[in-house]
Amino acid sequence: MPPASPSNEKFKNDESLVDKGRKIGALKMVGPTNGSRTRQAFSVVNGGQDLMVAGSGPASNAGSDCGGIEFTKEDVEALLNEKMKTKNKFNLKEKCDQMLEYIRRLRLCIKWFQELEGNYLLEQEKLRNLLELAEKKCSEMEMLMEAKEEELNSIIMELRKNYASLQEKFVKEESDKLVAEASLAKEKEARAVAEKSQTSLSEELGRAQRESSSANQKISSLNDMYKRLQEYNTSLQQYNSKLQSELATTNETLKRVEKEKTAVVENLSTLRGHYTSLQDQLTSSRASQDEAMKQKEALANEVGCLRGDLQQVREDRDRQLLQVQVLTSEVEKNKEFTGKSCAQLDSLTTKSIELEARCSSQSDQIRRLQEHLSIANKKLQMSDLSALETRVGFEEQKILICELQSRLADAESKIIEGEKLRKKLHNTILELKGNIRVFCRVRPVLTDDDDGTEAKVVSYPTATEALGRGIDLLQHGQKHSFTFDKVFMSDASQQEVFVEISQLVQSALDGYKVCVFAYGQTGSGKTYTMMGESGSPEQKGLIPRSLEQIFETRQALQHQGWKYELQVSMLEIYNETIRDLLSLNRSCSDMSRTENGVAKQYAIKHDANGNTHVSDLTIVDVCSSKEVSFLLDRAAQSRSVGKTQMNEQSSRSHFVFTLRISGVNESTEQQVQGVLNLIDLAGSERLSKSGSTGDRLKETQAINKSLSSLSDVIFALGKKEEHIPFRNSKLTYLLQPCLGGDSKTLMFVNVSPDPSSVGESLCSLRFAARVNACEIGIPRRQTNTRSSDSRLSYG
Ligand code: ADP
Ligand code: MG
Repeated sequence: MPPASPSNEKFKNDESLVDKGRKIGALKMVGPTNGSRTRQAFSVVNGGQDLMVAGSGPASNAGSDCGGIEFTKEDVEALLNEKMKTKNKFNLKEKCDQMLEYIRRLRLCIKWFQELEGNYLLEQEKLRNLLELAEKKCSEMEMLMEAKEEELNSIIMELRKNYASLQEKFVKEESDKLVAEASLAKEKEARAVAEKSQTSLSEELGRAQRESSSANQKISSLNDMYKRLQEYNTSLQQYNSKLQSELATTNETLKRVEKEKTAVVENLSTLRGHYTSLQDQLTSSRASQDEAMKQKEALANEVGCLRGDLQQVREDRDRQLLQVQVLTSEVEKNKEFTGKSCAQLDSLTTKSIELEARCSSQSDQIRRLQEHLSIANKKLQMSDLSALETRVGFEEQKILICELQSRLADAESKIIEGEKLRKKLHNTILELKGNIRVFCRVRPVLTDDDDGTEAKVVSYPTATEALGRGIDLLQHGQKHSFTFDKVFMSDASQQEVFVEISQLVQSALDGYKVCVFAYGQTGSGKTYTMMGESGSPEQKGLIPRSLEQIFETRQALQHQGWKYELQVSMLEIYNETIRDLLSLNRSCSDMSRTENGVAKQYAIKHDANGNTHVSDLTIVDVCSSKEVSFLLDRAAQSRSVGKTQMNEQSSRSHFVFTLRISGVNESTEQQVQGVLNLIDLAGSERLSKSGSTGDRLKETQAINKSLSSLSDVIFALGKKEEHIPFRNSKLTYLLQPCLGGDSKTLMFVNVSPDPSSVGESLCSLRFAARVNACEIGIPRRQTNTRSSDSRLSYG
């Protein structure tokens, strides 16, 4: 079937185009009308239910050529309103001619319409190409921006590092300089002290030398004195010996004199005898005697004199001996003193040698210190120089940093601009894609499916226009074809699926209300798609992946001044009753299951801004995806699960995960409030299949009721009906603001490849195809400049 043409009615209604009197052939179509046409094209493919293909052109085209002829609205209206005027009522021939003429003109007009339509299609194609180009450009630009930002960030980091290291170096140099100055001062002090000690030592040395020379002089004078005394002693000894020899001779003389005396006495006696006789003689003798007597007296005198002399000499000698003794003792003393002096001298000499050595070592030290000082001075100069250089470098770096910072600021502002552009383009893309989209996902064959016994029921068309978007289902030998926005085959990974919805997650951050549903029979992979398998990072579902992306993006947008607050709530709707999955007070939430307590607890209210509040619902502020996964685990444990023949762990309730995003940009004063609803619907299987009775029957009826309410709401929205039956079920009422005109909705239809499920699969696919044919409004972003209170609310 060829793609459907834009309806003629559409053209007619498009009065503004014609009113301006422009040539229609040259008109270009713009805006969302494109999308709507494409959507109708799909719906035709989708088994032709509820088709809105009105008045597609008749197949019979007039052969005549109308090239060159152009019509205006007036022309066409005139043509249509033309009345046959015949002069003669019964002139049939004229009437016939007129009719023929009229028919010819009508044909021309139709032909012209068909050409116009062809032009439109071309135009549409072109626009689509343009759009793709714009998308590509946009993503390239984004990448470029990111790269540039990274580059700038790295440059800044480097510069910062450089700056820090330079500062460190500078500080080190400064401290080195201080140390060098301190050591210089110390050296100077040491040198002064050494000089002082040197002068005192040299003074001491001079004194010691003088002392030593005086001692030497004393010694020599003492030595002289000793010699002289020795000489004197010897001379005294000589004199003594002479005196003794003189004494001996005097004694001999005395003896001799005494002998002579005795001889004289004898003589005298003899002579006396002769006295008489010799009176004469006597007189003479007397005279001689007198003479002798005189001689004797003289001699006695002489002896006395000599004796006195001798005595004197003896005394002299004694005195001399005493003197000698005194002198000897003195000499001894002197000798001792000399010895002492010598020792003192020795010690003094050694001391002086020591002092000299010390003096020389100290002067050595002083010299060395002076060398050190000069080296230190040089070093100081050098460090001064290098400090100067460093400072200059530092200044240069500072300037460079300033420059880079300004460039960075420029780049950042450019990025912000780019980001704005990206958001706009992104939104345009999503608008063009339509704001309710349907993805189909087929789960792989599981081991407990009865595969092999029957032929494969699911296949994928390979024609290019349906590649990745078409799915064929075989039932009782009859093939049913469907086309969706995207069809994921059984081998599609969780990541591949997530990539397709990541743009919607981004939209939530940009301030849109987003709903993602998973629809399908029990066991078709809804929970797997939404939550995934916990414990395996590869098999994480859309919810954890979305949150990871949101936290990452939040981090990245912080540089642009965005601050986001995120709040999570999780509830399930079981038998038309809301249960809070995050409530710690289980008894309280169980109470809500009793029929009477329902209305008061978990009452749903919408405010004027389209925000939803659920009373008593637990709302948790979250800062990391870890916290969220913790909450998800908690919620999973609280979820109602029941047994049916289909799936032992099948969920009999709708699970609604809601993330409220409130972002504020400090620098631009912008504010956004987005909502991301991720919903794992209860199994869509019909009653007969799950064979339920009693409680299970009630459950199934409640599920069917709410699912049909959901489809009623979507179809009513699609038909733009005045009354949308939001209030028919808890689920639709809860999600009312997120299902209206200004939200973005995505539905996953999960399909099991199991041949025994083919009936259910067909139902699911038919339902999804009808949803896919719906067109609901244009998404509107909830942004405003800052208000005083921005308490988050549901929806
Ligand atoms: P539902 O929630 O629709 O009842 P589940 O998500 O519980 O279905 O899926 C039923 C079974 O199929 C689970 O064991 C799940 O692990 C498995 N499954 C579903 N989809 C996939 C998939 N795409 N890849 C691998 N296993 C899947
Ligand atoms: Mg499930």
